[in-house]
Formats: sequence, C-alpha cells, structure tokens
Amino acid sequence: MSEPARLTLDEVHALAMEIFAAHGLSEDQATAVADTVTAAERDDCKSHGLFRVPGYMASVKSGKVTPDAVPAVHHLAPGVVQVDARNGFAPLALKVGREPLAGKAREQGIAVLALVNGYHFAALWPETEALAEQGLVAFACTSYMPCVAPAGGTRPLYGTNPIAFSWPRGEGKPPMVFDQATAASARGEIMIHERDGKPIPEGWAIDPDGNPTTDPAAGLAGAQLPFGGYKGAAVALMVELLAGALIGDAFSYEAGGRDNGDGGPSKGGEFMFAIDPARCTGGDGSDEGRAAQLAHAEGIFEKILEQDGARLPSDRRYEARRRTPAEGITIPRSLYDALMELKAG
Ligand code: NDP
Repeated sequence: MSEPARLTLDEVHALAMEIFAAHGLSEDQATAVADTVTAAERDDCKSHGLFRVPGYMASVKSGKVTPDAVPAVHHLAPGVVQVDARNGFAPLALKVGREPLAGKAREQGIAVLALVNGYHFAALWPETEALAEQGLVAFACTSYMPCVAPAGGTRPLYGTNPIAFSWPRGEGKPPMVFDQATAASARGEIMIHERDGKPIPEGWAIDPDGNPTTDPAAGLAGAQLPFGGYKGAAVALMVELLAGALIGDAFSYEAGGRDNGDGGPSKGGEFMFAIDPARCTGGDGSDEGRAAQLAHAEGIFEKILEQDGARLPSDRRYEARRRTPAEGITIPRSLYDALMELKAG
C-alpha cells in the first residue's frame, strides 16, 4: 500500500483554496469552505476534511451549486434571522449569519437562525462552537438526503440529520460541544469503511432486503439505521421538522428527489438557536450572571471527569487541535492524487 501523504494545516488550506479557485468559487466562498475543511483536518474529523473536497467540486462541476453565491441576510422577527445561501455552500452563509444571530440572542435572550437554500456538507460543531466562544449556548441541526429508515421501516426516509450543542466555559477553557449524526453513524464513515475495505459495525445499516449487514456497500445501497432505535428515529424526525417544515425548506426525501446525484451535498436548510445565559436567570444580562451559571456547569463536568474512562464530548477534537499544528495531518495517497487532479482543473 502506498504511503499516506503528509500535509501541514497551511498546506491543507492552500490546497483547498487552489482547488476551489480552479473551479470558479468566489474568494469568499472558497475561504469559508477551505476554513471548514481545514478545521476538520485540524480536529481529526476525517470524514469532513479533505475527503469532502471531491464531493464539493462534483456539485460545482455539475452546475448544481452557485460557486460565487452571495448570501442574503433577512431579519424576519426580533428573534429570528434568516440567511438565504442563494444556492451556495453553507459555510459562507453561516459566517455571515453568525453576528446577527449572536446580536439577537444577546438582545432577546434567545434567537433563531434559519439557513435556507444552502448546501451543507460539513460537521456542525464549527458553527455552534463559534457561538459558545462568545459566551452563548448554541444548537444546530440539518437534514440531508434520505438514507436512514424510520423505526421499524426498511427504506431510507430521514437524512443522517446531525445535531450539535455547545456550552461555553469560562477561564479560557474551550466550549463543551457534542455533534452527532442521528443515524448510528455518519454516512461519510460508511464511505470511508468502503474505501478502506473494512466491515462496518453491526447496527449501522441494513441491506436493500432489510437484513442487518456489516458490508459497507450493501449498507449504502440499503438503509442506515438511527442511533438508539425508535428514540434516535424520533430525534431524526425532529430535525426534519425544524430544518425543513419550520424554516420553509425541504425534508430529506424532498431534497433527495430533486438532487442530481452528482455525489455532492443536497440542497436544504439548517436550523440553529443561540441562548444568552446571562438573560436566563432574571439578571440584567451582565457577565456576573453568566459567570455563576458557567461555574455551576463546571461542577457536572468535574463529576464526569472524575470517573475513570469518562471524558467530555469534544475533548478528542481539542486534543487533536493541540497536536496537528506541529505534526500536520495525513491523508490516503489515493485521496491526495485525486486532489492533485482537481487542482489541475
Ligand atoms: P461520533 O459518533 O464520532 O461523535 C459524536 C459525538 O460524541 C462527538 O461530539 C464526540 O466527541 C462525542 N463522543 C464520542 N465518543 C465519546 C466518548 N467516549 N465520551 C464522550 N463523548 C464522546 O460522530 P458521528 O459519526 O455521529 O458524526 C460525525 C460528524 O458527521 C458530525 O460532526 C456531524 O455533524 C457530521 N454529519 C454531517 C452531516 C451533514 O449533512 N452535514 C450529516 C451527518 C453527520 P469527539 O469529537 O471529541 O470525539
């Protein structure tokens, strides 16, 4: 087997930018997507790093995504901001929506961001973590294309529908963040198992006949399963309703029905909310109120960490974040070769 390719984080970003420029992305679109891809590599989230670049570019080549889209921000209500991605990738829309959402959350105590007409192909933690770094509690969810069967069913209906939640921490500590698919695994994880010729764990998927399978190809052709049976399926349904019906965008099955199958992301919505803790205890919104709540939260984090084997969600990512700026990252040689071809246009 050929040696993996090793890159610094600057090289990851530069390579992504070159590929995006070669495919006509505007500077703003290219920078936002390259930042997201680089952050995923930095935090060792391989299924949303450079691995995603061929899919992003497939959706530009096929004419599905507008490579120079300029998102439009609409203030729909005192506590609701809508960002219309205008057929572009989600990272730029999220970037322009962040400050309006944070501003409304500080003013109102709570605010919603409705991202519509965008193509989300990334992890969700970057958008919730960025808000928690500003002292806000944040939640995000998005639907996808139909690939997960409802509880008891055998055919794809829900997307892998991830949910992310971030909690700010004081004293220079990075936020507590969890970000998870409501499927038993992210679809990209099954694709990576297929690429690497490895079986998938039991409980991730069923084959086209509805039988349990550990064959990644059969699982991709059949249906993924929600985490936790009917309980995960209910959360997946909630995501469909929040990121679809509530904000006026598509359900996963509708997004799948109109997608051109180019292998890139499908068009859909993302729902977020942000809460200012300083507004939730009847205080005047001052930093002191927030500090008491954050200090209280540290108590439960300490209780978790005093148990052997337990850790906080996001600690794995933060550990990778400390390591990769010096060590760099590796990607399979086959992916590197594919990226070099894309760089050539
Ligand atoms: P994982 O199952 O790998 O992890 C889910 C969460 O659990 C993470 O926050 C992780 O933190 C945490 N975690 C894992 N193990 C432990 C543990 N032992 N103790 C405490 N916390 C733990 O993620 P998924 O495979 O479900 O999803 C991967 C990514 O795919 C997500 O980022 C998601 O947003 C993305 N995705 C995007 C989609 C899209 O359409 N855009 C669709 C579906 C998924 P840590 O990271 O620190 O390990």
